[in-house]
Amino acid sequence: MLVNLLDFDLEHLSEYCESLGEKRFRAIQLFRWIHQRGAKNFEDMTDLAKSLRLSLEGSCTITPLNVLSRQNSKDGTIKWLFDVGAGNAVETVFIPEEDRGTLCISSQAGCAVGCIFCSTGHQGFSRNLSSAEIIAQLWFAEHTLRSERATHERVISNVVMMGMGEPLQNFTALVPALKVMLSDHGYGISRRRLTVSTSGVVPMIERLGQEAPVALAVSLHAAVNELRNTLVPINKKYPLVELRAACEAYLRVAPRDFITFEYCMLDAVNDTDLHAQHILDWLLPKGGNPLSAKINLIPFNPFPASGLFCSSPERVKAFAKILHNAGLVVTIRKTRGDDIDAACGQLAGEVLDRTDVSSRMQKQRIISLKKVAV
Ligand code: SAH
Ligand code: SF4
Repeated sequence: MLVNLLDFDLEHLSEYCESLGEKRFRAIQLFRWIHQRGAKNFEDMTDLAKSLRLSLEGSCTITPLNVLSRQNSKDGTIKWLFDVGAGNAVETVFIPEEDRGTLCISSQAGCAVGCIFCSTGHQGFSRNLSSAEIIAQLWFAEHTLRSERATHERVISNVVMMGMGEPLQNFTALVPALKVMLSDHGYGISRRRLTVSTSGVVPMIERLGQEAPVALAVSLHAAVNELRNTLVPINKKYPLVELRAACEAYLRVAPRDFITFEYCMLDAVNDTDLHAQHILDWLLPKGGNPLSAKINLIPFNPFPASGLFCSSPERVKAFAKILHNAGLVVTIRKTRGDDIDAACGQLAGEVLDRTDVSSRMQKQRIISLKKVAV
């Protein structure tokens, strides 16, 4: 099989060019053609020597993902469903706002963590995406939107790894993709505007800090082990005390001076005043060091199999007030794209029937993804 150049960060591409007997700097030209100009045919790369173009054609490809469907929300949110083969599909959501364009990217088909309030968790784990499949979501969205808007300006300013999957359980593929996003020769996304969201894969939080320090969001959902063990089962492996230590250490290398904690508001499960107090005790322990944090309360997006319900808006506000009064920065996430099931956590990209793509499309199954407006 030919090498897919979307799999490479600039370092790897340079090594690859060298292996073809080319100077390393050729890799920069090639990289810019691919990621800044959205080229997928070597013949279009007119400033590369013909001999190089021919040798690339014989040895590698630029292979994006196939789009299965696209839905546009009334509020401008766009959701794409991409085929990743063998009956699996992943989703990507673009969320336009006045001052930014955010892309929510998937890292796995399914997820092995199994959080009970998450549709991806209910569907189980299919497989890790490759670096190429991760970056292809940005490649496609950025260049499609640019051409629709007839602009050469960058459309996507922010990326959140908050689509399907647990990015830190696909670390090897994640890191090169993050590097392409961050590279000035690639998408030039700032570290502060690139967020990895994790359920708390503690050892990988440290490695992320070493290999690609970007903004970090941690899906907390409960600040006592007993409850968190049920909501976010990975907590049994990496309990709250370890998670806190990893967050403290991450803050020393993070591009932002706080960590965002996501908290999905589940009626009568984790939304009482006492639960808010647990958060305060965990983040701001009496006699201990406070952890620099921003809390993002996410109204739960229900799906039938969960058997769970969203807290009332009054409860969410009262919960936010307790945290706010204790000095924490709290935001309540607004729901975007819910008319196209692109809102946070809705039926997150369930695995498709193992039938062929066209019959799947005819069935018009609604596949959707949790999406986030950070
Ligand atoms: N696996 C990573 C990133 C993907 S999930 C993580 O868990 O952080 C992205 C965010 O969507 C997480 O904060 C997750 O808790 C939240 N989420 C999942 N299902 C949801 C639902 N049904 N309603 C609201 N938020 C949900
Ligand atoms: Fe996986 Fe995140 Fe969903 Fe939990 S919330 S099951 S970690 S995708």
